[in-house]
Amino acid sequence: MVIPALLIFPTPAQCWWEEGHQVVARIAAQHLTAAARRNVSQLLEVEDTPEVVANAMAVASIWADQVKADTGTSNWHFINLTLQDSRANIGDRCANDDCAVARVRLFAAQLKANDPDADSRFSDEDALRFLVHLVGDLHQPLHASSDADQGGNCEALDSAVDDAKNVHALWDGPLVSRMGVDDTALAAELDKEIADMPDGQRADFSAGGAEDWAWEAHRLAVVNVYKRLAIPKEDVAFPDTCAQAPDEIRETSVEVDEKYMDDMQPIVRDQLKKAGLRLARLLNEILG
Ligand SMILES: [Zn+2]
Repeated sequence: MVIPALLIFPTPAQCWWEEGHQVVARIAAQHLTAAARRNVSQLLEVEDTPEVVANAMAVASIWADQVKADTGTSNWHFINLTLQDSRANIGDRCANDDCAVARVRLFAAQLKANDPDADSRFSDEDALRFLVHLVGDLHQPLHASSDADQGGNCEALDSAVDDAKNVHALWDGPLVSRMGVDDTALAAELDKEIADMPDGQRADFSAGGAEDWAWEAHRLAVVNVYKRLAIPKEDVAFPDTCAQAPDEIRETSVEVDEKYMDDMQPIVRDQLKKAGLRLARLLNEILG
């Protein structure tokens, strides 16, 4: 019997950037106030020490990907901003709050309200786990961009980079893992860079809200993915599968060289640092 490959291998979109999420969570844990960390430790039901909370947040950071199929929440992990969109279109691309920007706002409000009787499908612990994850997602440029291509999932790479076979997977995997596969070590390295930043830069890196972060990530994708890799600009469309994507996209074969990988490293490092600092700021505001 021949089993279709799709049933055997998870699609890249389902296992994306696991290391990235863990790094973001670990950086955030280092920047929590004492009060916020105590509340996080209670929500995650672990001891309130820096190391235990950082480990628990790293585990919590990948939960939302594990439950998205069963809970029908896949759309909460991204926002489909097209190459034609301006910032004013963010609302249009988030009908029924079915996108990452809205879900960050709603889960933050749930946690802040601290109302045990609140009518929600998800517990406060779940709300925290979603927040830790979705703030990370919003910093992966291809989670804030669409060119009728499922955020870069539909453009194949000319030749695989490590295990990544399409543009989205390249940003999920190798661009992070090539900096080191140990999330604890990478987080510590990036946190050292944060400590060495001038105060003004650290404040900049911590700033903004979900809409700002999505738009910033989108601009990064426009310049560093779509323009740099010469991917054709398509009419606005949101295909459910790559088989329904425009021919031009399906027939694109993207060439990625070592220079591209090197040039993207500082961008990925900054996105991880920003996501960690911003997640900490958000949690300090609602739980601090
Ligand atoms: Zn996700």
